[in-house]
Amino acid sequence: MNPDVLVVGAGVIGSSVAFHAADRALGAVEVVDRNAVGSGMSCRSSALVRTHYAFPPEVELALRSRRMFDAWPDLVGRPSVVRETGWVKIVPPREAPHLRANVQIQKALGAQVELVTAEELAAIAPELWTEDIELAAWEERGGYGDGAAVAGDLLAAARDRGVTYRAKTPVSSLVRRGDRITGVETADGVLSAGIVVLAAGVWAPPLLERAGIEVPIELESSRVAVLRHRQGEGASVACTDVITDVYFRPEGGGYGTLVGGHHDSGTVDDPDHVPASADPERLVHVVETASRRAPRFLDAGIAGGTTGVYDMTPDSRPLLGALPGLDGLVLAVGFSGTGFKISPAVGEAVAALIEGHRNGTVDITPFRPSRFQEGFPIRPEFPYSSEEPVLSAGFAAHEKA
Ligand SMILES: Cc1cc2nc3c(=O)[nH]c(=O)nc-3n(C[C@H](O)[C@H](O)[C@H](O)COP(=O)(O)OP(=O)(O)OC[C@H]3O[C@@H](n4cnc5c(N)ncnc54)[C@H](O)[C@@H]3O)c2cc1C
Repeated sequence: MNPDVLVVGAGVIGSSVAFHAADRALGAVEVVDRNAVGSGMSCRSSALVRTHYAFPPEVELALRSRRMFDAWPDLVGRPSVVRETGWVKIVPPREAPHLRANVQIQKALGAQVELVTAEELAAIAPELWTEDIELAAWEERGGYGDGAAVAGDLLAAARDRGVTYRAKTPVSSLVRRGDRITGVETADGVLSAGIVVLAAGVWAPPLLERAGIEVPIELESSRVAVLRHRQGEGASVACTDVITDVYFRPEGGGYGTLVGGHHDSGTVDDPDHVPASADPERLVHVVETASRRAPRFLDAGIAGGTTGVYDMTPDSRPLLGALPGLDGLVLAVGFSGTGFKISPAVGEAVAALIEGHRNGTVDITPFRPSRFQEGFPIRPEFPYSSEEPVLSAGFAAHEKA
């Protein structure tokens, strides 16, 4: 039987779409993945969890996702995945007014976030050097999760609800009949479907190109170092630091710390040519940079690291929804390094879009793929220097994680 909804990609996004599509009884749902669930960028994700964004619909996606993470055992029947270490956002003093404004907006939307001074932050996380800070945003319930586990949990719960899943089934092309996508081509033959949801992450652009569809996605690599140290001698909180341009978080029960560089990146042509391992010299550079914020990182050993690939759009926000004049295809791509923490609510909103009833889900219209041609890229009212749109200047600085 042909599925009503065929999801290409079983990362956190595709698995979430499948779960919510099944939950909403959107008919027969099938998921195909060229490898296995969670094996794409979701398993390389640093998986920071926060609700701090400068664009209100993203705050809503993060908040709604957080509520789902809080209800995880009831939602998907598996143990909770979020570790609440607390999360802090550090911005340069000149951006403190924007931080203040964004925190106010977030609180009005229901986020649990406080502004803290340098002294207060030093008391919360004594390992942080805070002398260059005027204000920071502190989310006591922030922390981190696990991309592979979330993708696996959502897909397992989707399968419990009748979704079918084909692993090791690469899609070679989308099948296009005029103004409609009618299915996908695989080695097993054509799979026809009512709606194809493309959630193939960094592998999506060539599939679209082959169907004559161009999307503004550019790929960037980014490295994450894994530090090992004595218990309690690494990061005590998760942190996104705009000043030093790094992020970090605890890992491994207090014996480890993950450190990622925001601008430690280069453009990528083919994600399959980016090995999951990372060049030790680049890892040293990321850790040295982060040690400006947490000097104790220099005393830790670098036990390993990962190279991940981000699917960046010109405004660093995802492309969600259908393309004008083309039926049968819904995009859920271009997450620009921030897709983990919003994945539960994105899947729900995409399923609601297919169903045609929002029913309290987040309005994802601002993320429509056509916004660039229409001249409406997302521009938050109070942006940070790390996330200003770079529409004409190519792809440069964006905040991820
Ligand atoms: C290093 C790194 C750190 C990050 N840190 C954070 C963070 O701290 N917080 C946060 O919120 N986000 C973070 N992100 C971003 C987040 O992890 C991603 O946005 C998210 O995992 C993307 O999920 P996805 O399902 O879109 O893609 P993926 O997980 O890559 O899934 C796509 C799936 O599609 C499959 N696929 C691809 N092509 C085909 C095909 N032709 N046929 C069939 N299947 C196909 C792949 O096998 C894969 O399983 C980070 C990302 C990276 C790389």
